Amino acid sequence: MGRGKRYSGYTSWSFLEPCRDFKPFKLAPQVGRVRSRVVELDKVEEERFQELMEKSVVVSLHEHSFVLPEDPGEFVEYFRSGRFWVGYEGLARSGLDGFFDGLLNGLALIRSPDPWDWDNVVHQIGIYRADLDHQDLLFVATRAEDFLRAHREGRIAVVIHLEGPPRIGDDLTKVDVLYGLGVRCMGVTYSRGNEFGSGLADRVDRGLTDLGYALVERMNKLGILIDISHAGDRTSLEVIEASRDPVVVTHAGARALWPTRRMKPDEVILVLAEKGGVFGIEAAPHTTLTRRNPRHSIESVMEHFQYVEKLVGIDHVAFGLDTLFGDHVALHRVFSAYLSISRPGEGPEHPVVEYVDGLENPSEFANVVRWLIKHGYSDQEIGKVIGENVLRVAKRVWGG
Ligand SMILES: [Zn+2]
Repeated sequence: MGRGKRYSGYTSWSFLEPCRDFKPFKLAPQVGRVRSRVVELDKVEEERFQELMEKSVVVSLHEHSFVLPEDPGEFVEYFRSGRFWVGYEGLARSGLDGFFDGLLNGLALIRSPDPWDWDNVVHQIGIYRADLDHQDLLFVATRAEDFLRAHREGRIAVVIHLEGPPRIGDDLTKVDVLYGLGVRCMGVTYSRGNEFGSGLADRVDRGLTDLGYALVERMNKLGILIDISHAGDRTSLEVIEASRDPVVVTHAGARALWPTRRMKPDEVILVLAEKGGVFGIEAAPHTTLTRRNPRHSIESVMEHFQYVEKLVGIDHVAFGLDTLFGDHVALHRVFSAYLSISRPGEGPEHPVVEYVDGLENPSEFANVVRWLIKHGYSDQEIGKVIGENVLRVAKRVWGG
């Protein structure tokens, strides 16, 4: 994290006129919206935490930077407006030096009912960058070195990350365009399959198509990190095999602990690690549950971390908590039809929570570090899982 972040108090779109240039929304508070717990440490551990945060380069594989409106009744209108508000205030307190920002999370119903419409995606990247370019805290990362620069300069490097490709048909030139627009990480498909492969919500996984193989090759040539978080199992295995570079799961958990499609089987995790990839543990509400901790909290999330760490070793695990600012549970309710996280009734029964205690929004990322200290992990191990593993893969794929 370095020595505190350079945050001037900027808020999104403050260079435009509300009501005249855009419709304003009353947004959820970025910090302290709910009573999420901070992992308690004793005095010695607390000092170690402070030191570790200061010296480590901290990177998350998957978060969402936007702030939701306070009223869930306004969510649809917010997403249709084509304009997002970034949680600069909360991010400045997160301890993150960098994160992959899942820009198109399947909800961006901006100009067309198809969230993966090419115009939607280009619109979203452009409008995001227009806001970023009016402040100094966040900047777009295009090389691994940018995370180190952010750490040195008290800023935050954001990776433009698409969870699936937009509709490009067989026009792979458009992948070059996405790279040019700053995209450095992309899924081969979102939950519903496409012309490249099958998604985790598809009944039958047909694997990577011929066009999918061509997409993987093109992403390798350009230097776009491939994410298989939302791909089906067979498609995932074929992507890993086909890719010249390591592949990542930016946000998921272990199916051995919680049997849903959204979680990954051991086979995928093992092959991904063999190829040098990194697996990001997620914390979106009701995803990374376990039988021991079916009430979703930091404890269930960290069980997934420990399972994956034991399976493939400390060099292949990271965190992609998949948090955002505002009521994430209400968001799932409003957009359940688009998200295809799991089928109704899938997975063991579990209590419904209002938020994930201990990892509610991106400003709570440092809680992971506190938990790891408390559970006996060494500084070296913590350094790897909160940043170095991601840096290694980023350097290999993007250079610098
Ligand atoms: Zn996702």
